Amino acid sequence: MSRGYNFSSGPAALPESVLAQARDEMLEWRGARASVMEISHRGKDFIALAEESERDLRALMSVPASHKILFLQGGATQHFAQIPMNFAAGRTADYVVTGSWGQKAAKEAKPSCTVRIAGSSEAAGFLKLPDGYAFDPSAAYVHVTTNETIGGVELHVLPSTGDVPIVADMSSNILSRPIDVSRYGIIYAGAQKNIGASGLVVMIVREDLLARCPPTLPNILNYSAHVKEGSMLNTPNTFGWYLASLVFKWLANQGGVERMGEINGAKAKVLYDYIDGSGFYSNPIDRACRSRMNVPFRLADEALDGKFLAESEAAGLLALKGHRSVGGMRASIYNAMPVEGVKALIDFMKDFAKRQG
Ligand code: PMP
Repeated sequence: MSRGYNFSSGPAALPESVLAQARDEMLEWRGARASVMEISHRGKDFIALAEESERDLRALMSVPASHKILFLQGGATQHFAQIPMNFAAGRTADYVVTGSWGQKAAKEAKPSCTVRIAGSSEAAGFLKLPDGYAFDPSAAYVHVTTNETIGGVELHVLPSTGDVPIVADMSSNILSRPIDVSRYGIIYAGAQKNIGASGLVVMIVREDLLARCPPTLPNILNYSAHVKEGSMLNTPNTFGWYLASLVFKWLANQGGVERMGEINGAKAKVLYDYIDGSGFYSNPIDRACRSRMNVPFRLADEALDGKFLAESEAAGLLALKGHRSVGGMRASIYNAMPVEGVKALIDFMKDFAKRQG
């Protein structure tokens, strides 16, 4: 086996014990005499998995009874478009833009509603949070991206929006620490970072908002219809749902999101502390909004980027290349990245810097 420490931004590393369990259950799952991929989603075995995974996620995130949980498809990008169709049709929606995913979400909303930018740090190169917000009290919702995966900017404090519901793209920091779900109208996340495999989207939606879903929408695009059908309006991504269910059990065994929050905080701190003190590496993001999940960094001389990447890869530290729009490096250190992986990265970075004289 030559698995490395995988710093990919997504699809990202999964807990090794989850992969091992999926391997062990690949040919036959829970006595079903078939794999979980080969059985009906409407059979009692899969329904039991669906219900249990929802219960587990509800417990992990302390999701209140006021909120429904959906297991959907389409990637977060589809929901950039579908959320305004359902919740802001013909109205105005406020968007807070702290990076390129927020920008994409706002762009995809434009065909369905009037998009207002209520705060943006674009002029500051997305290196800090917006200086302030100008919310419209009559907006259908305020959309935020709680963690910008590419830029490495995290919203550590949710803005106050009064009675206007917050819609949060939490794709890259869901389940990374405790949050108060009751403060959100909608939380949605592509699964391929902290939940499981790509192709699955988890959505948590406040039930009263479902009354807004226009009955003129085709059912497949209508969240209210998906809730009515228990996320089984059509064939769900059963294998993705199964993997998510294993990750939820793994998280509970780790001590839940409280413990993950402590571990993630500690992992990010050692890495940022090292970068800041190194004199060779740098991270340009305002400390108040640095991401605990995605740590972009630059080398003192970008001519060394190729060498750094080749040597880190050879040392078993995978996928450290930064996003093409930002350049440099990026270490994504989601829940499944153990502290040892971050330590191995820092050891490598120290050694590499020293060798450049
Ligand atoms: N939002 C965020 C914060 C992301 O990081 C990503 C993907 N990395 C997306 C949305 C888009 O997700 P998908 O590719 O699943 O549509």
